[in-house]
Amino acid sequence: MVLTLKRRAEQRILQGERLVQANDIHHAMEIDSLNEGQVYPLHNKQGKFVAQLLVGRQHKGLGWIISLDQDQRWTIEYVESLIEAALMMRQRLFAHQNHTNAWRIFNGEGDGIGGITIDWYHGYMLINYYSIGIYKYHAWFEQILQELMPEVQGIYETRRFINDMTEANRHVAGEEAPRPHLIQENGINYAVYLGEDWMTGIFLDQREVRDFVRSQAQNLKVLNLFSYTGAFSVAAAMGGAAHTVSVDVAKRSLDLTQEQFVVNQIQPTPDKHEIRVMDVFEYIEYAKRHQLKFDLIICDPPSFARTKKTIWRVEEDYRNMAKELLDLLYPNGMGIFSTNAAKYTLANFRHDIEQATLQANGEYIFLTQYRLPQDFPTSQDALSQYLKVLIYYKSA
Ligand code: SAH
Repeated sequence: MVLTLKRRAEQRILQGERLVQANDIHHAMEIDSLNEGQVYPLHNKQGKFVAQLLVGRQHKGLGWIISLDQDQRWTIEYVESLIEAALMMRQRLFAHQNHTNAWRIFNGEGDGIGGITIDWYHGYMLINYYSIGIYKYHAWFEQILQELMPEVQGIYETRRFINDMTEANRHVAGEEAPRPHLIQENGINYAVYLGEDWMTGIFLDQREVRDFVRSQAQNLKVLNLFSYTGAFSVAAAMGGAAHTVSVDVAKRSLDLTQEQFVVNQIQPTPDKHEIRVMDVFEYIEYAKRHQLKFDLIICDPPSFARTKKTIWRVEEDYRNMAKELLDLLYPNGMGIFSTNAAKYTLANFRHDIEQATLQANGEYIFLTQYRLPQDFPTSQDALSQYLKVLIYYKSA
């Protein structure tokens, strides 16, 4: 079956976008009959070939362009060539594993196949499949990865199109990883758990931001909000922070954060490294009441969160929270504001934080920003470049 692309979609694809939505295609009635995992040619209105679509339905869309070449067949050899290119692109990371031994090996559409990511966790791999369509080829991926990287000790997968977390996570080849499994990043240890949760304990896309925190933290009083396993707090502590406070509402964060400190030979005693299981919004009120101030505040919230008392929607609520946090900074302090909400554009996020700096006490200077690191290449799709981290300095 040949599918006909709308004109705007054709232009976007020719400009490097890779995601295809159902409404990018004429005669939407045919859409439901497209098979998961099957490749279909897309033509323009004039009947000219544009690209090949692999159907893999996700919340993001119908599927992904896998080639702009009419003659390219979707075979294990083609997939292998893309993974090989992805490994080549990360050659320098593989060659220097004495300080950093975890990163992304394959970043979906940015490496040529949407709906799948592959991460390297010091000897082990985690493959994330985002659609039934791409999962149809899981045996190819496993075979290719073991062939190209015979040193891999074990492979895990998460099938993110399944809702049940326990069922979606599993070990698929080789040995099982220790629990916790220790990885290193810029010389700092992090405990991760493979095969258990949607999240492993560390977000590999924040590597450069953690290193920035480490580089700045000497003698500072650091507040880490939405701290999860406290990775930013540990980076700060390893950089010589005088005091860290990690705040996360999830009960599991307490043990997991303590463990991140302990695997770096730091005792998280509450006088020096506080770990608070509480709602960030309550903590902010508490900090205001007690006139607590910090030199460095890291804020990395989810896109949406509901707790007993509050509903958080990143695009609506970030500006106010940023204002409150800027007020908690000492002069010469720094605020690190992060969001991974794909639909929240950099321009809007930057605008909101600028507004916050105007409303907060003091004068602020925009210092720098971080986007995804090099092992997370992106396509031209706007949603592909999801990570935005803005850093502001409070003048004395
Ligand atoms: N900054 C972390 C990742 C954050 S993941 C890192 O770098 O590793 C988002 C976290 O926000 C989750 O751990 C979740 O439990 C927490 N969270 C969500 N809503 C919250 C709230 N209202 N108060 C505190 N923590 C919250």
